[in-house]
Amino acid sequence: MLFFEQLSFWERQQYIENNTFVIIGAGIVGMSTALSLHERFPKEKILIIERGYLPTGASTKNAGFTCFGSPTELIDDINLIGEDKMWQTVALRLEGLALLKKRISKREMELKESGSWDLISANQSLIDKDILDYLNKEFLLQFGLKDVYSIDNQIIAQSKFFGIKEACKNQYEGSVNPGKLMHALYHKCISAKIQFLFATEMLEWTSSANEVNILTNFGELKAKQMFLCTNGFASKYFSQELKPARAQVLVTKPLRHSISGTFHSDRGYYYFRDIGNCILIGGGRNLDFHGETTTKFEKNQRIRQAILDKLTHELLPNQPFEIAYEWSGIMGVGSEKTPLIRSLNKNVHAGVRMGGMGLAIGSAVGAELSKLA
Ligand SMILES: Cc1cc2nc3c(=O)[nH]c(=O)nc-3n(C[C@H](O)[C@H](O)[C@H](O)COP(=O)(O)OP(=O)(O)OC[C@H]3O[C@@H](n4cnc5c(N)ncnc54)[C@H](O)[C@@H]3O)c2cc1C
Repeated sequence: MLFFEQLSFWERQQYIENNTFVIIGAGIVGMSTALSLHERFPKEKILIIERGYLPTGASTKNAGFTCFGSPTELIDDINLIGEDKMWQTVALRLEGLALLKKRISKREMELKESGSWDLISANQSLIDKDILDYLNKEFLLQFGLKDVYSIDNQIIAQSKFFGIKEACKNQYEGSVNPGKLMHALYHKCISAKIQFLFATEMLEWTSSANEVNILTNFGELKAKQMFLCTNGFASKYFSQELKPARAQVLVTKPLRHSISGTFHSDRGYYYFRDIGNCILIGGGRNLDFHGETTTKFEKNQRIRQAILDKLTHELLPNQPFEIAYEWSGIMGVGSEKTPLIRSLNKNVHAGVRMGGMGLAIGSAVGAELSKLA
């Protein structure tokens, strides 16, 4: 392990010294912020510091839904944060998805615009059709999107689901491969001469009038401005407004199944999709909000069992399956669903609290954050 002060003249000149902007965190927000900064200030030197040997938050651990809201989730949000804020958040998600599609081609991120379905279980209330009409009317008025939601119960028999009584399709949602997406973003950064230091953790920082001193596990470096893009790991800087939220995902071994597309249920708390002949399923955080308010990459057995029960009884009834992969990832949430995009002082800015839709909003947050420079 070499400390910065042990590096050569060449290495220090290339990576450590004279950085105008240093970004902490190489998730979708960190890389999008770097790209937006580069678009605004093409001559400035930009460095991204990431503490993992891979990005170690949520951007490469998520389910890959390009989602902006299922009806049951949006209805829940209206009750929680009010109509205006709900629509503001939807607007940011749509803006983010549009910018992402502009930056990364469909092929590069394996974008499939196959639609998504919000599933209503036998013991839940059917979706209120007046509210569905209201949502569709507003999507058309505010964003020019026609007939976003429609009841599509055929999908229930087609997918061989059990215990589902209603399905509502969102024709504009779909899925990506998060690994490919992040890899493509990384290449875009490299093409823009944005540099990276992996396995380098920001431990603390101090600001003076014109610069920020950033202490890392390898020593100190300076920047004119620093951007904190560490999402759920930034809660110590926003103790009242931001909390980490763990989420768990399982992927089956290959099997014969009839599921094609992306699906949500229980106000978005459960989600599943096909990955070819495997099924990815995640969620259940609502079973233990307190226990899942953590940055520990561990499993919650109660939630794991609930996910397995969903697979066994609703998605793959009468069909044996085995689990091939399972992992957890850390999101950043708060009582508000809007992201926090804010200057902490003249030269330190933060873009955090992406909730469960950072793939959608991440690019838009990066663009907004870059405007604070
Ligand atoms: C299981 C799961 C499923 C999800 N599914 C979806 C989905 O289908 N669609 C969707 O839109 N969103 C989904 N999300 C949410 C989405 O993944 C996140 O909102 C998004 O990835 C957040 O991006 P970010 O760049 O803000 O944070 P992150 O991706 O968490 O990146 C933050 C980075 O900062 C690094 N870091 C932290 N502290 C430091 C430090 N001190 N020094 C250096 N580096 C540091 C971390 O290692 C990490 O790589 C899901 C999340 C999870 C966990």
